[in-house]
Amino acid sequence: MGFINKLFKKVRGNGSTSAAHDLSTGPRTISRDQHAISRRDISDSALKVLYRLKDAGYQAYLVGGGVRDLLLGGEPKDFDIATDAHPEQVHKLFRNSILIGRRFRLVHVRFGREIIEVATFRANHTSDNSDNQARQSDSGMLTRDNVYGTVDEDALRRDFTINAMYYNINGFTIHDFANGLEDIQNRTIRMIGDPYERYREDPVRMLRAIRFAAKLDFDIADETGDPIDELGHLLEPIPAARMFEEILKLFLAGQGEATYELLQDYNLFGYLFPQTQAAIEADDSTDQLVETFIQRALRNSDERISHGKSVTPAFLLAAFLWHPVQARVAKIRNMPPVPALHQAAQDVIQEQVKSTSIPRRFSTPMKEIWDMQLRLPRRHGNRAQQLLDNKRFRAGYDFLLIREAAGEPLDDLGEWWTSFQYAGESQRMEMTKALGKAPRPKRKRKPSKSGDTANDAAESAVSSDA
Ligand code: ATP
Ligand code: MG
Repeated sequence: MGFINKLFKKVRGNGSTSAAHDLSTGPRTISRDQHAISRRDISDSALKVLYRLKDAGYQAYLVGGGVRDLLLGGEPKDFDIATDAHPEQVHKLFRNSILIGRRFRLVHVRFGREIIEVATFRANHTSDNSDNQARQSDSGMLTRDNVYGTVDEDALRRDFTINAMYYNINGFTIHDFANGLEDIQNRTIRMIGDPYERYREDPVRMLRAIRFAAKLDFDIADETGDPIDELGHLLEPIPAARMFEEILKLFLAGQGEATYELLQDYNLFGYLFPQTQAAIEADDSTDQLVETFIQRALRNSDERISHGKSVTPAFLLAAFLWHPVQARVAKIRNMPPVPALHQAAQDVIQEQVKSTSIPRRFSTPMKEIWDMQLRLPRRHGNRAQQLLDNKRFRAGYDFLLIREAAGEPLDDLGEWWTSFQYAGESQRMEMTKALGKAPRPKRKRKPSKSGDTANDAAESAVSSDA
């Protein structure tokens, strides 16, 4: 009820109330002189695509994040285009284009490094829709989504009101189908239609609500946020590959820490990283070491992004899974630390890929970052100098600093490494000397009288080469 009323009560920026807006009567149209989107803000490639579609007699709109971010005065990450031309027709218009997607057929038009995504209007459909272009599983989930429709229909099957505004290249008007403009002004993430139903169709929309709330610093409307707690489990059967795509967008877009907090508020984080959630819940340290470490790691990568530095998913994934790996190591008996770590790493990753896939190009450096954590304490002789040349030194060292900042008792190891890097040659020698003698590798001894072989193995492992 409140939802509908709010939808219809439009408070303009100037305070006047406009006429009630009914979704079934079509969009509210905002003319060129009443909105701030100018063609100058739209990439040349997107404009080319829009104009070529229009000149070929098709409808052509800029839609989604492009319109939303321009209205907010931001820079869109990419420009998505919607049209009534079918994918094959779009493909024919652009030699530099390819047809992609099965679940959702699209055309990608490529201009150098920029890709413009062109989607044909889709119609909303229900489970009784007999058209075999759309498939819905028993739980109400959309598995195929290729029923073409009109622009009105296309708007109503988009996720949030702020994502359903269309900039028409024909006349430069904006068509607002679901009161997105009002929600932009109120800074609200609001699902179009019945949130329960829309989450059941595509549970990833729960993650998208949180992603946009964190990215834009918007609130999630109550009726949009309330069902999430109950429906979070619907994320479990989502294919691990799609979940991986989503976590990249969630954590590597510059608002990772805020996103993490929201995921916790809505009880979704545990569906992405079950082992991490378990480690957080099992953590009885007074300063919440496990969670503090994750927050620090996210803050660190947010800062890097804001300074234009590179970030790799491997580093964050290594951070998320560090404590689960430690917990696993603690359970392994009779194995030296290095092989125990490798075993634990293997087990934890194997478990994680049930939730989100982790391509090998990331799991390999993750293991190397963890490995570095065993190597960095071993600095005797030439080892420190040699470690500096290791290709994973930098990541391993950054990781160590975050562990230390989060409160892990590491005996100022991070500080030592900081000084070592800045030190000159003679100073480095002094620093290494000051560490004292290298512990001698212990020979395998006969079991002591107490028969404590496990302890022996652990002792010899500490000094074995990594
Ligand atoms: P950004 O690109 O900045 O992450 P965006 O809003 O452009 O944000 P995309 O994932 O690029 O997000 O999707 C483009 C548009 O497609 C969205 O704005 C939305 O209208 C629609 N859309 C995307 N994913 C879904 C979904 N799961 N359910 C419904 N609509 C969706
Ligand atoms: Mg986009």
